[in-house]
Amino acid sequence: MSRVFFYPDNSKYVLFTDHVLAHMYSYAQRRFWQKEAGGEIFSPEPDSHGLIISNAMGPNPADQRSRHAWNPDVKASDRNRQSEFEQYRHAVGLWHTHPESTPSPSGRDQKTTWDYLDSFEGDRSRYLMVIIGNCGSIPAMTVWVASGESSREWIQLSEDKRCTQLDSPKKGDCNVLQPKQVAFRGEMRSRGIRLL
Ligand SMILES: [Zn+2]
Repeated sequence: MSRVFFYPDNSKYVLFTDHVLAHMYSYAQRRFWQKEAGGEIFSPEPDSHGLIISNAMGPNPADQRSRHAWNPDVKASDRNRQSEFEQYRHAVGLWHTHPESTPSPSGRDQKTTWDYLDSFEGDRSRYLMVIIGNCGSIPAMTVWVASGESSREWIQLSEDKRCTQLDSPKKGDCNVLQPKQVAFRGEMRSRGIRLL
C-alpha cells in the first residue's frame, strides 16, 4: 500500500509507491547488528504538486555504513542517477534508515539535504529527506523537505494516516488520490504545523 505525505498547508503531497516502500523497509534496522542504509529517491516529475516517488536506489556496495551513520559511495550514486535519468526519472531526495522507532533527522541529515539541493545550482526548488524507523511491520517513516523556493525552509510533511493503517476496514479506499480531492484539501488549509 502506498503512503502519502502532505505539506503543512495541504497544497502539495508526496506519494511513495509500494515498490519504493518495500525497498526501503527491507533495510529497516530491526536488529541491533543492522547498519544504516540509504540512497536516493526518484520521480518522473520532480516539480509536480503531487510528487510520485516511483523508484529508490541504494545502498551501494562501497557505501560506508555503521549502526549510526551512512555515507554514500558518490561514484555509484552518480551512476544510479544516470541510469535513472535514462529512464526519465530524476533524483528528488535522499532516504536512509535510523535505529529508532520514530526517526528524526540529525543536524547533519539536515545539512546534507541542503548540500544536495545546493548541488543542483538552482535547477531544483526542493529536496526531500526520508527516514525509515526500526520497528513494526510497517515502520514509522518521516519525510522532510529542504525548500529554496522563496526563502530557505526545512519542513516536515505529515502523513495521511488513513492510507497506512493496516487493519483499517477501508484500507483500499485511498491508494490513489485524485487531483480534485487534493485541490479541495488545499482550500481547507486547516493544518499549520511547520517545523524549522
Ligand atoms: Zn540520519
